[in-house]
Amino acid sequence: MSSSSNTSSVTGSTPVLTPTIITELIHHPYQPPADFASPQPPVQKASTVFFPNVAAMRSRQWQDKSAYTYGLHGTPNSYLLEEKIATLEGAKYCVLAPSGLSALSLINLALLKTGDQVLIPDNIYGPNKAMLSGQLASFGISWDVYDPLNAQDLAQKITVATRLVWLEAAGSVTLEFPDLIGLVKVCKEKSVLCALDNTWGAGLAFNAFDLGNGIGVDFTAHALTKYPSGGGDVLMGSVCTRELALHRKIVNCHMHLGIGVGANDIEAVQRGLPSIVLRYQAHDLASRQLALWATTQTAFVQVLHPSLPNSPGHQHWKALCTDAIGKAAGMFSVVFDASVPSAQVDAFCDALKLFQLGYSWAGPVSLVVPYDLPSMRSLKSSPIREGVLVRFCIGLEAVQDLQQDLVQALKVAGFSA
Ligand SMILES: *Cc1c(COP(=O)(O)O)cnc(C)c1O
Repeated sequence: MSSSSNTSSVTGSTPVLTPTIITELIHHPYQPPADFASPQPPVQKASTVFFPNVAAMRSRQWQDKSAYTYGLHGTPNSYLLEEKIATLEGAKYCVLAPSGLSALSLINLALLKTGDQVLIPDNIYGPNKAMLSGQLASFGISWDVYDPLNAQDLAQKITVATRLVWLEAAGSVTLEFPDLIGLVKVCKEKSVLCALDNTWGAGLAFNAFDLGNGIGVDFTAHALTKYPSGGGDVLMGSVCTRELALHRKIVNCHMHLGIGVGANDIEAVQRGLPSIVLRYQAHDLASRQLALWATTQTAFVQVLHPSLPNSPGHQHWKALCTDAIGKAAGMFSVVFDASVPSAQVDAFCDALKLFQLGYSWAGPVSLVVPYDLPSMRSLKSSPIREGVLVRFCIGLEAVQDLQQDLVQALKVAGFSA
C-alpha cells in the first residue's frame, strides 16, 4: 500500500495516520515531480517490485516484458538495454547475462540434453570448450571439433546427435576468419541450430542474423564486457535471437538459473553504448596500422589480422566485412619463430610499458597475452605457424606511442630490428 492510501477515508470520518519518524523515513510522502529528462536513463534498482493491488500481482507477465514482477525478471534498465543490444545485433529478442561466459552457458544449457552432441570450431573461445568438457560432459553431452575454414569438414562431422554448432568470427586468439556463410548454410541444410559468439564483430562488422541470401545464425552470444562497455570495468553478456520460440527457451533457462544483472552494471554499459561505433572504428584503425607495421618486423614469422591478405580466412573476411560500419575489431596476433624460446617472448611481453598484461579487450588500455597454442588446439592441421603466439588488443592510445613501445620491448628482449 502506498502512503497516500494509508490516509484515505475508510468510514465516515478520516482516520489520519501519524507515523513516527522511523516509519516516515521508509514511507515518505514526498513525490518528486515526474518531468525529469536527462541524457542517461535513471538507474532503478530492485529485488522487490511493488504491485498496486492483488489483481495486478496475479496477472502481471514479465516473460513478454509487458510488466514488472521481481528484480530478477527484469527492470526498466534491463529491458531497455536488452532492446538496444537486439538493435545493435540485428536481432529481435535479447536476454542479458552476468558475463559473456554466462551468455555462452545459457545457450548450452537451454538447448542441450543428455545424448546430444555439440560441434565447436578448433579456435573456439577456451572457456566455452572448458564448459563443454567439464559440466556438460558430466551431463552426458559430447562435443567434437571442426575446422572453421572448411565448411565441408563441418558437414561431414554433423551426426544425428548433433544439436548445436558453435561459430566464432574471427577466432579470438588467432583471428582466422571462418567461411561463416558456408558454415551457416551447412547448419541450415542439416537443420542444426547454430550460435555465434559475436563478441569480435559486436554487431558492427557484419549482421549475424542477415549474412545475405536469407541466411543467418539462430543465436548470438556477446560479451558486452568488451565493445558495448568499452571501459574494461564491467562484466556482462547477452543472448540474442530472431525467433520467439528460441528466445523463450533462453528466457526460461535464465529464470531457472536465477541469474541477473545489477542496475549499476547496466548503467556502465548504457554509458558506453553511444560511443561504440566511434570506439570500434578507432580500435580497428589503430590495430590495422600496427598489424601492418608488424609484417615488416623480422622477429615475427606470421602476423594474424583478417585484413592482411596472408592471414587465414582473409577472403571470407573481405567478402563479409568490408562494407560494414565497423570492419575488423581491435586485435592482432604475431607468431615468433619456432626456435625462439618462450622465455624470450615472455621477456618481450614483460618489457612492454604501455601494453598491460591482461585478459579481455575493448577497453582504453592496450593489452598483451602470450599463448601456448598447441595446448589449445585439437586438430592436427592448422594455418597458424609453429612458435609462441602473442595477442595484442589495441586500446585507445596514440598509435605511434604503441609502436614505439613495441620497438623498445623487442630491443630489450634481444630481438634485432
Ligand atoms: C571475453 C570473451 C567472452 C567472455 O566474456 P566475459 O564477460 O569475460 O565472461 C566470450 N567470448 C569471447 C570471444 C570473448 O572475447
